[in-house]
Amino acid sequence: QRERLSEFLGTRESINRSRRRSRLVVLAGPTAVGKGTVASYIRDHHPDVLLSVSATTRPPRPGEIEGINYFFVDDSGFDRLVADDELLEYATVHNSYRYGTPRGPIEQALASGNSVLLEIDLQGARQVRERMPEATLVFLAPPSWDELVRRLVGRGTEGAEERARRLETAKLELASQDEFDFRVVNGDVAEAAQEVVELIKTRGRSPRRANPAAASNAATTTRGV
Ligand code: 5GP
Repeated sequence: QRERLSEFLGTRESINRSRRRSRLVVLAGPTAVGKGTVASYIRDHHPDVLLSVSATTRPPRPGEIEGINYFFVDDSGFDRLVADDELLEYATVHNSYRYGTPRGPIEQALASGNSVLLEIDLQGARQVRERMPEATLVFLAPPSWDELVRRLVGRGTEGAEERARRLETAKLELASQDEFDFRVVNGDVAEAAQEVVELIKTRGRSPRRANPAAASNAATTTRGV
């Protein structure tokens, strides 16, 4: 995987348009692929990368900490954030709770030259693409469909009905990969995190039409993603 990544990093360098790139990297991907785990790994091992903390109307899970995992707000609090244009993007995820990215900390970090990582869903990634076209979009993919199902069942946080709903959404999300600049397969968390960090550090962005994400990972695609 890494070899292929560096291959297209090489291609990207040859069409370098660095002044137009930003240090904002969006990590999206289907349910249970391990986005949160990869993002937390990066937060813990690369403190120089700001991991954006989202606001959500979802109640905290045991062990989650206000301001670290999320800013937990009620519906009217979220409405206020929207009305005051405090969110860079927001969406209702899995037909239930609302999630949004506070704009202020990101703008500050980017203005002072720091890198920022957003771990958000596909709807949010599309909004960021529209509002900040210079952002780099990374799709985190499972090694295979079966592995995705196994991870979702294995974590045991959803009932059967919710799992079925999330898997339906996952199919749509997997079909959206071509909209992304890069694809990283999450077979091993540390390796996937390293690949994302390399993308953050190089702030690389491919030309959208050339789409190396799809081209360079054909082998993975045939494995069933
Ligand atoms: P969870 O409730 O499991 O923490 O997150 C559920 C989903 O919400 C995940 O797919 C996560 O990527 C997404 N999510 C978390 N924060 C945001 C956000 O700020 N914006 C959007 N659009 N999605 C988010």
